[in-house]
Amino acid sequence: TKAKPVHKRILLKLSGEALMGDDAFGINRATIERIVGEIAEVTGLGVQVAVVIGGGNIFRGVAGGSVGMDRATADYMGMLATVMNALALADAMNKHGMTARVMSAIAIEQVVEPYVRPKALQYLEEDKVVVFAAGTGNPFFTTDTAAALRGAEIGAELVLKATKVDGVYTADPKKDPTATRYATLTFDEAMSRNLGIMDATAFALCRDQKLPLKVFSIFKPGALKSVVLGGDEGTLVHV
Ligand code: UDP
Repeated sequence: TKAKPVHKRILLKLSGEALMGDDAFGINRATIERIVGEIAEVTGLGVQVAVVIGGGNIFRGVAGGSVGMDRATADYMGMLATVMNALALADAMNKHGMTARVMSAIAIEQVVEPYVRPKALQYLEEDKVVVFAAGTGNPFFTTDTAAALRGAEIGAELVLKATKVDGVYTADPKKDPTATRYATLTFDEAMSRNLGIMDATAFALCRDQKLPLKVFSIFKPGALKSVVLGGDEGTLVHV
């Protein structure tokens, strides 16, 4: 008998850094293939998956190469970086035998199709993985906010924030051996304890839309699948 997923449609937020592997920047082939394998496991269960991909492995608007740059211009560069990651991710998914579509919040029509909500919903119904690129399309925002926004727009039952650590801890588990993982938290608890799970805009959007958020490790094999099967994985943040 096949395990039954508890979610029909999810929004997965992958940071750009998740694609880096142990490299200093860019996209690591083995890493992206591993992540695609994890996603294929949940689409294989019949779960509809949308992905919001970050761009920090290529460009971050408020740091590094952007020092001294106009903030909005740097942020547009950051959004373009997410388009590159989205193309790489969709390509890897298609090579893996899945069907992926990239939709961009910024019109770059020769490269990717624009984000059109009904079209995205149609793709999801057709069991295609939709990769949302270019964040929200606006400077001064983040791809975490794009994840909350798109998650709400497509009626995702859960936003999954993929991190290196397998959840939210009482302290940094690398520095403090007594740190423990929260199994669940309310949005208000997370905010008052300053846990820094996502930026305030993203967090407020999830809270206002009563869109639950799960923080889990994308590097723990099987963790993504365990989340959609309702396993005790990561940290659930809820209203
Ligand atoms: N960005 C933006 N608006 C958005 C999403 C992203 O301006 O709606 C820019 C911003 O400069 C950010 C960069 O794109 O630093 C990369 O996104 P993010 O930092 O969220 O990527 P991640 O940390 O997830 O890799």
